[in-house]
Amino acid sequence: MRVSKMFAPTLREVPAEAEVVSHQLMLRAGFLRKSAGGMYNYLPLAWRVLKKIENIVREEMDASGAQELLMPIVQPAEIWQESGRWGVYGEEMFRLKDRHNREFCLGPTHEEMVTNLIRGDVRSYRQLPLNVYQIQNKFRDERRPRFGLMRGREFIMKDAYSFDRDEAGLDVSYKLMYDAYTRIFTRCGLTFRPVEADSGAIGGSGSHEFMVIADSGEAEIVYCNECNYAANVEKAELHVIEAPAEEAKAVEEVKTPDCKTIADVCAYLQLPVDKSVKAVAFNSEKGLILCFVRGDHEVNEVKVINTVGVNEVEMAEESLLTEAGTVGGYMGPVGIDPEKTIVVVDSTVMKMHNICCGANKEGYHLLNVNPGRDFTPTYVADIRLIQEGDPCPHCGGNVSKARGIEVGQVFKLFTKYSEAMHATFLDENGKEKPMVMGCYGVGVSRTMAAAIEQNNDKDGMIWPVAIAPYEVLVVPVNTKDEASTQKAEAIYEELKKAGIETVIDDRNERPGVKFKDADLIGYPLRVVVGPKTLAEGKLEVKVRRTGEVQMLPLDGDYITAIRELLAKL
Ligand code: ATP
Ligand code: MG
Repeated sequence: MRVSKMFAPTLREVPAEAEVVSHQLMLRAGFLRKSAGGMYNYLPLAWRVLKKIENIVREEMDASGAQELLMPIVQPAEIWQESGRWGVYGEEMFRLKDRHNREFCLGPTHEEMVTNLIRGDVRSYRQLPLNVYQIQNKFRDERRPRFGLMRGREFIMKDAYSFDRDEAGLDVSYKLMYDAYTRIFTRCGLTFRPVEADSGAIGGSGSHEFMVIADSGEAEIVYCNECNYAANVEKAELHVIEAPAEEAKAVEEVKTPDCKTIADVCAYLQLPVDKSVKAVAFNSEKGLILCFVRGDHEVNEVKVINTVGVNEVEMAEESLLTEAGTVGGYMGPVGIDPEKTIVVVDSTVMKMHNICCGANKEGYHLLNVNPGRDFTPTYVADIRLIQEGDPCPHCGGNVSKARGIEVGQVFKLFTKYSEAMHATFLDENGKEKPMVMGCYGVGVSRTMAAAIEQNNDKDGMIWPVAIAPYEVLVVPVNTKDEASTQKAEAIYEELKKAGIETVIDDRNERPGVKFKDADLIGYPLRVVVGPKTLAEGKLEVKVRRTGEVQMLPLDGDYITAIRELLAKL
């Protein structure tokens, strides 16, 4: 490829809408152009990277025994009605109608589609296990599309689905995918970590997310410094903390004017914060949910969703609080009817004594409230968020937190879809059974963004060789100098012939401009040939990641030397 012909329009200014570095660099380096919010044109350099990631994914999926196929993007509403998700998927689903007024959606995922496909043709235990996958654009009308390819509304996903006779079979299929994902992200050159993930209503340890460690990640993970426990904070289980025993005192109402936060209240009443309880109010399809955790703890939204069995929650408006007989800033569990309003209290709160909490009345709090005696929740559950300093749920050791980008997820579905959609088979004894399923996704386009988030510096991208758009850039520094330019052209041809993906910057530009673009695009190796290097009988090779420079003799085997350098990167 010649830079003079390459469609990679670079930008000098960082576009204002781009908040994260991967988005900024992809726009600046001419990888990406926006079509609509969360939807992008992938320009040739980006497309090369995406195809490389896809190929690594494909090779590892094939090696693990999965078979590639392709299902339609447009999916009929009927199958989603059958699984029960047409109603619950909500606004994230792009919906459309055909000329006969029949309803369809653009696939956000393909569990229904694949279950419908497999149930039609797989009838016997002899046809199982089976794992099929596709690499395709997915559509989700995200509430907040942002960060470029990290959270798009149209994005590329590899989705695989396994079908087994029983749970033991599912365990095998799951492990195969887990191991394949480990190889995929290792081959992509990424620093990542598989973590235990929330598996919603299914519960248990039925899911792992693969997280690329990066500060810009939207996910928060916790990991133990002593054992190999690692989990999404949404999922991390917590021990109940038992407060030391105390004699229950009588409830007292106290004035707490202008104390809006739990810190204000504790300061005003001179109470330790671990004697207080704070509230978070959510609205959901089941109505208001009042959640209570200890004053120094935070509420884990995902655990609330799982406990109550709702699809999503959002912060509740004041009018809902008024209806339930409470008021923002002064919410408390005492006097709220748990039959009428859903009250979820963290298990640790139930072990506290003589607590301070809101009095459900503007400007007042209650002292000496005792769970059990003074209130009964609708649900008692582990709903708090793990914090630094909490003991590891597995070994009791020290935990740390980090941010991550979820690039893949493996998930045991068990019989959720096969039962709802009657995807059954006949076992050895002729008995009809639901297939036991798993699903496995890799965000191909998000992986590209994650690779940039993890590999960049002030000058631009630094591609891991395996997924770089090209491996080597040859720069003739002075296109007016015929001899060195001819030599550069010859080296370019030799590299290509040797099977190395090479670009030549044949533009009539100053060397500074060429070097800047080379760094911005982040070719792993840059080869420079000019009148000076030629006079010395050498070419210059620079490693993008380390800045290391080597002068290789032109009469030596520089192709092998370059190949070896690439292999080491
Ligand atoms: P998230 O929690 O980030 O919204 P998800 O858990 O809904 O993602 P899955 O349904 O597990 O996503 O999809 C499989 C993979 O697809 C994810 O691991 C992620 O890499 C990718 N992905 C999901 N949503 C998006 C998106 N909006 N843009 C880009 N990639 C996405
Ligand atoms: Mg996920």
